[in-house]
Amino acid sequence: MSVPFLDLNRQHGPLRREIEAALGRVLDSGQYILGSETTSLERTIAGRCGVPHAVAVASGTDAILLALVALGAGPGTEVVTTPFTFMATGGAVARTGARPVFADIDPATYNLDPDLAEAAMTPRTRALLPVDLYGLCADWARFESLAASRGVALVEDAAQSIGARLGDRAAGAFGDAAAFSFYPTKNLGGMGDGGLVTTRRADVADRIRLLRAHGDAGGYDHREVGMNSRLDAFQAAVLLVKAERLDAWNDERRRIAARYTGRLLDLFPAGAGSASRGRLPAPISPPSPAPAESLPIFHQYVVRAERRPDLIAHLRSKSIGSAVYYPTPLHLQPCFRELGYRAGSFPESERAASETLALPIYPGLTEAEQDEVCEAMSSFYRGRG
Ligand SMILES: *Cc1c(COP(=O)(O)O)cnc(C)c1O
Repeated sequence: MSVPFLDLNRQHGPLRREIEAALGRVLDSGQYILGSETTSLERTIAGRCGVPHAVAVASGTDAILLALVALGAGPGTEVVTTPFTFMATGGAVARTGARPVFADIDPATYNLDPDLAEAAMTPRTRALLPVDLYGLCADWARFESLAASRGVALVEDAAQSIGARLGDRAAGAFGDAAAFSFYPTKNLGGMGDGGLVTTRRADVADRIRLLRAHGDAGGYDHREVGMNSRLDAFQAAVLLVKAERLDAWNDERRRIAARYTGRLLDLFPAGAGSASRGRLPAPISPPSPAPAESLPIFHQYVVRAERRPDLIAHLRSKSIGSAVYYPTPLHLQPCFRELGYRAGSFPESERAASETLALPIYPGLTEAEQDEVCEAMSSFYRGRG
């Protein structure tokens, strides 16, 4: 049996007629950029997040960029973020003209460590940009008090966390603004690029609405130089259909994750809670339990694995997909060489980059497929591969 790393057809198959009808409505409407579908999507996501404003843009990368610009990041300023994330996080910072300043992660959650972020702040720090990596909320209580006490902006990279919760709040409701991505592989994915900013602040929402359309306040009255970053109506229409299933899909991901963890702890007992320790007591350790009050959405299910390259090859030989998110932390990327970091600058991010492996997790993954994945890992480490 082969187990693909991701199979979006399992989500889209049952929705095909609904999606086709929605696309047909847009086709007939003649309005292909922004329009009423996009406005509905903005209302839907704002409502889900419990915030008054949402502004749809062309990608998650643009959502981060525009949120940062609207909050004053730019040349001469710094933005503190994590190096253990997708390139877009650090890239968006650099694109504003601000300098990305990295701080290491908490090895148990893979998220930016608030103490280390605080230590990395300088008088030039304009914003903090934590990421809810793999769909687990960052330590927002700490970051909100840190941002308030230091008078800096706080932006949430929620590209991987739509539907996640922390206490009584949803991802997208933390800080001054939050950025979502609708890249097709995300928990709520379109059929092309898309993104959205949520915010409680009317001033930030207004500024982003201007910036996403060349700073045009209406009638070619350009108040500032913006960009072209508008969501297209076909994406909004697909996303509105899929948004109705998001909670059920996220529940399913949590069930799959719990089952993986149970199976892995049966197979590799010493792995329990090991992620935060320096050495791996078992060849495979499942994710640490989520912090109290935190409800993750398992955008990825990520283990730490000994002999990772050999394990990946073994899984591939059995037609089982796996993936590494991310093999190189941002501070070691060639494009950020000028920032002056080196190997050893952020040991936990570097260790995570070399040890972690994402296993198949998506709506429609069967229990038999999951068992196949676990069985293959077991045979690999027991030398029966
Ligand atoms: C996907 C992703 C982005 C960028 O989103 P795009 O829609 O691909 O531009 C940013 N940050 C993180 C953490 C992501 O996973």
